[in-house]
Amino acid sequence: MSSAVNVPPGQDMFESVACYLCGATASHDLVIGQDDLTGKPGNFLFVTCDACGLAYQSPRLRLEHIGAYYDDDYIAHRKTTNWGILTPFYQSAMNKHDREKDKLVSRYLKLNSNSRVLDVGCGSGSFLQRLRQKYQVDASGVDFKNLTHLPFFDQVTFHQGLFYEQNLPESSYDLVTMWHFLEHDYDPVKTLETARHVLKPGGHLVIEVPRLDSLSNRLFKERWPGLQAPQHTVLFSRETLQKFIERSGLELVEYLPYGAFPAYFYLFAGVAFKLRKGRGIDLKRAILPYFLGQILLWPLLVFERYLNIAMQTVVCRKRESSESQNNRSQV
Ligand SMILES: [Zn+2]
Repeated sequence: MSSAVNVPPGQDMFESVACYLCGATASHDLVIGQDDLTGKPGNFLFVTCDACGLAYQSPRLRLEHIGAYYDDDYIAHRKTTNWGILTPFYQSAMNKHDREKDKLVSRYLKLNSNSRVLDVGCGSGSFLQRLRQKYQVDASGVDFKNLTHLPFFDQVTFHQGLFYEQNLPESSYDLVTMWHFLEHDYDPVKTLETARHVLKPGGHLVIEVPRLDSLSNRLFKERWPGLQAPQHTVLFSRETLQKFIERSGLELVEYLPYGAFPAYFYLFAGVAFKLRKGRGIDLKRAILPYFLGQILLWPLLVFERYLNIAMQTVVCRKRESSESQNNRSQV
């Protein structure tokens, strides 16, 4: 397990990558990131594609080596349930996160007992369980990490492994969600094509990722929490995210300069990463300052959606087959 990751990864563990968007190999250095969250050693280079401007990590850790960086401490897997007297605050923050996801998707489609929902990178499964209990949807999740021992997977179908290797049935989901998944992906084009394949015609895909061209990136630069080295493979700007959507053949319904994930987390983590300089943060010790900071910044955070602080979301739709024919004939 990753607790064994206490030396920097050797050169033989890396592979260089061509641009995920256009396939070009010429690039220039953007920034070197470190594992600021857990403090595991290593320097990870992000580059910008000379041809299309996509920012991505290259060289990247080969797939068989990345698993060690998603250890049991990994925050998105939220295995920790005991935060002492702050447990209720932590739980309410997590519930709020799922509530925000629910509110966001419910603006675009009405979920009910006939809806089939797939969450890619489902982590603990809490979002799917919320939709199942609230709307009686048929809920499925994919993740390479199996957390089905957690109670959130009750009556939720789970697929373990890479999304595009799952052989999920064609045209079968009304909603596919990717909350902070695509920036971890080793083949985002294949992932988006797979999403289009498994969506019903007219079905929706919702993608939230950190936003490179945002205030928090300008503030924290090499300590920007959105780098999250070495897990983040791609750093999306608004422009490059939209280019991926165009390429996937999905229709863009709406672009949002915010997400369900609290932008405040990136402001807090950015300050902590600057102070810790790559030594990692102790979540147990950080949780009290985290909630205090949130109270202090509350007047600012009310306007989160208008300030382009850290996050972005795209809502897309799979065209009905007649629409896609029309669309192709126009191209
Ligand atoms: Zn490119």
